[in-house]
Amino acid sequence: MTTQQQRAAIVTGGSRGIGAAIARRLAQDGIAVAINYATGKAAADALVEEIQAAGGRALAVQADLADPTTAVQLFDAAENAFGKIDILINNAGVMELAPLAEMSDQAFARQISVNLESVFRSLREAARRLRDGGRIVNFSSSVVGLYQPTYSVYAATKAAVEAMTHVLAKELGSRRITVNAVAPGPVETRLFLDGKSEQQVRAIAAMNPFGRLGQPDEIAGIVAFLASHDSGWINGQIIRANGGVF
Ligand code: NAP
Repeated sequence: MTTQQQRAAIVTGGSRGIGAAIARRLAQDGIAVAINYATGKAAADALVEEIQAAGGRALAVQADLADPTTAVQLFDAAENAFGKIDILINNAGVMELAPLAEMSDQAFARQISVNLESVFRSLREAARRLRDGGRIVNFSSSVVGLYQPTYSVYAATKAAVEAMTHVLAKELGSRRITVNAVAPGPVETRLFLDGKSEQQVRAIAAMNPFGRLGQPDEIAGIVAFLASHDSGWINGQIIRANGGVF
């Protein structure tokens, strides 16, 4: 495959966790990847080096997506490096858990800002700038459907992302761009583990039929399929990747 024919992707929040596994996997699949991060420069740079050492093309792009101006800058940087972009993986996210009665305005605003507003702005750039035949993969969560206590605001942001996924899939169909979302159950990353006791982690892991947590690579494989040419007839779908918890 020549450089001109190589597809290019933006992975938001690609410095660690699920996003890093996705960036690594897309690069293995021959896709050039722009790896966005907010604070994790060292991790993002190390991942770029790893991908380049394996013969792939990658670029780290610092952009705090809570800032309304950065989605445009992220797309500009990726296009400058790789030409037109084919794939957007809207992975960046934050989670702050508390009973609704105790949820602060600040925690509410941060989750709305990163999980919803930034996803909207990245989707808007993608809708305007993605190459025809492209792929968009959003991130929901299996807490949409489970609706457990303490997840009110986080689940609300992800339910809104699911709504945008369904609508945008219909809006972009004439350009053969698919828009889907992956909704993982608990995956062993900092987002899930931070603030939980070992006992809480064990109890949550026991909720699915396999009795374990998901791993970032397992989510990356699903995203890689949705980003591939083979997934072209899957559109406007929410893929619940949770080991069968419901
Ligand atoms: P993680 O390990 O905490 O990683 C989050 C990533 O998002 C990091 O690369 C972080 O970058 C980036 N990020 C956070 N805020 C950002 C911002 N304002 N601008 C740009 N990047 C930002 O999380 P994860 O578990 O991999 O989660 C990835 C996605 O899966 C999220 O959308 C999450 O809601 C969803 N999800 C996760 C689980 C789970 O159990 N882990 C389950 C369901 C859904 P920096 O390090 O540079 O700050």
